[in-house]
Amino acid sequence: MTYKVGTGFDSHPMVAGRPCVLGGVTIPHPTGPAGHSDGDAVLHAVADALLGAAGLEDLGSIFPDGDPLWKDAPSAKLLREVARRVIVEGYKIVNIDVVVATDGPKIAPHRDAMRQRIGEILGIGTRDVNVKGKSLEGLAAAGSPAGTCVVAQSVCLLER
Ligand code: MG
Repeated sequence: MTYKVGTGFDSHPMVAGRPCVLGGVTIPHPTGPAGHSDGDAVLHAVADALLGAAGLEDLGSIFPDGDPLWKDAPSAKLLREVARRVIVEGYKIVNIDVVVATDGPKIAPHRDAMRQRIGEILGIGTRDVNVKGKSLEGLAAAGSPAGTCVVAQSVCLLER
């Protein structure tokens, strides 16, 4: 058996008037991630971790910004396509771990829903997906034109 580890990172500004979709879950919140797709930084980080582990192109190369096909697209669709490509390479997804940091919504109340949703999208069990929420402690405000942002970092393990 060969094991491959991959890492992924993503960040999006949080702006008013955007649906707040994180980890594939829509959270009631006055701001949401801005982006060409739905801006779900959690799913984007998970996707890049999977692509990295499988030795495939990164997310931005597969789904270029500005492609009208992916305008406001649910990132679940992108992640499902990434999982398909990883599986075609002969890999099985062993587990996913992801940290999401934001001064937007509290993540903890939505953690289980995110784990379940990511598991569903990838076709793996909820226990093989972990999500941890962190506060940015106000540190993002100075660096983001929008005043706040969401950042996500993920790691995954594949076996073949
Ligand atoms: Mg992104």
